[in-house]
Amino acid sequence: MPISVAIVGSGPSGFYVAEALVKSEADVEIDMIDRLPTPFGLIRAGVAPDHQSTKRVTRAYERTALNECVHYYGNVELGRDISIDELRATYDAIVLATGMPGDSKLGIPGDEKQGVIGSATFVGWYNGHPDFKHLNPNLETENVVVIGNGNVAIDIARVLVKTPEEMVEADLPKHVADAIQKAPVANVYMVGRRGPVEAKFTNVELREMGHLHNARAVIDPADLPEEVTGDWSDRDRRLREKNLESLKEFAGAPDAEKQKAVHFTFFASPVEILGGEKVEGIRFEKTRVANGRAEGTGEFFDIECGLVIPAIGYRLQPIPGIQVDEERGTIRNNDGRVSEGVYVAGWAKRGPTGVIGTNKPDGKTAAAEILEDIQEGVKPGRAAFEATLQERNVRWISYTDWQQINDAEVANAPPGSPREKFVTVDDMLDLLAN
Ligand code: NAP
Repeated sequence: MPISVAIVGSGPSGFYVAEALVKSEADVEIDMIDRLPTPFGLIRAGVAPDHQSTKRVTRAYERTALNECVHYYGNVELGRDISIDELRATYDAIVLATGMPGDSKLGIPGDEKQGVIGSATFVGWYNGHPDFKHLNPNLETENVVVIGNGNVAIDIARVLVKTPEEMVEADLPKHVADAIQKAPVANVYMVGRRGPVEAKFTNVELREMGHLHNARAVIDPADLPEEVTGDWSDRDRRLREKNLESLKEFAGAPDAEKQKAVHFTFFASPVEILGGEKVEGIRFEKTRVANGRAEGTGEFFDIECGLVIPAIGYRLQPIPGIQVDEERGTIRNNDGRVSEGVYVAGWAKRGPTGVIGTNKPDGKTAAAEILEDIQEGVKPGRAAFEATLQERNVRWISYTDWQQINDAEVANAPPGSPREKFVTVDDMLDLLAN
């Protein structure tokens, strides 16, 4: 019997496990399960809508999805439609590739106020994730504060200040594009608790901020050191040198004609969200960096704003019956092995870092471990899984169904854009029903 494998999650980490299993040419039957009808996880719902070239990696995932030993089951939710114990009884191996869908909290007074929206939620909204269709973030504000100095912070800042012309080739859903275009947002403050050298931006993303049509990058030159000091690997040092060079260029060429601004604000740690029920501002403590860590200086300042977006990392959604490594915030695992027959890959394994390709070695590891641990399939796999779903009237979405949804999205695209996304599950199911 083939080894039956259920991969829960169809983002990059799930697809790289499937790809490695397919390439192994072992006798496997791979079922990819996703709670959304649409596949591709953060490629669809995380990668910025104006970075379409990055999204093209789905072409490779599609080749895997169309392999004869792979089946896709969208609109099937672990915990709602099937339990982990039922999957265990059905499949020889289960791979948890569920990522980190939750927002990390600032954990400061006021962070529950209306108008504090974590990056997973905000990015999900502008990417048309059905969970966040009704978010309606307060963009009726001149100032937005984004906390964090990573690529997610930069994505958010950029999407908020690009002109409609710059977004023509993006796939922002119409209601989102309308909301952003009519918003009076003129200043985005991107605030790092450490300095420019410690910032986690990759250089391509940072450099892009110097070429925006109507937004200038504003930096206090006093925050920029002459050179990169500190204990870095060669690779990290080169990246930081490039970033410092880009930031110096921005600081040296303030472009007053541009009407919007992204303020690169360093050495400031958030201490309190200000306002009543709704956000009216945020208080920071100035910091200095000692031994790589941010230390408070006892000096404070406020930024008035109507929206605060912490882009400070992500959290696991716990799965009942699966242990969490509290310290690392991941699923407890030994290089991908969770327990007998259960494996983990991607952010749920390592934490929320790394680019898309970082998931590829994880996929190979998980596939190798499965094939090392399990020589032959003994569990019923796909047929039993489908029988359970049928019994429960679960309308699962096959890859062919997804291709229909995709075709309709492409057909509905406004000029220049690759697609107009369906942003509710019902709309997707209606399309298929008709
Ligand atoms: P990240 O790169 O880890 O950045 C998180 C930022 O949040 C850091 O600046 C961190 O500061 C800050 N932070 C954490 N806790 C904080 C707190 N309590 N108060 C204030 N600041 C806090 O994470 P990310 O931006 O979410 O990105 C996740 C991963 O996806 C990264 O590996 C990223 O490169 C990748 N990604 C890549 C792209 C791309 O390639 N275009 C796009 C998006 C995301 P410290 O450094 O001081 O901890």
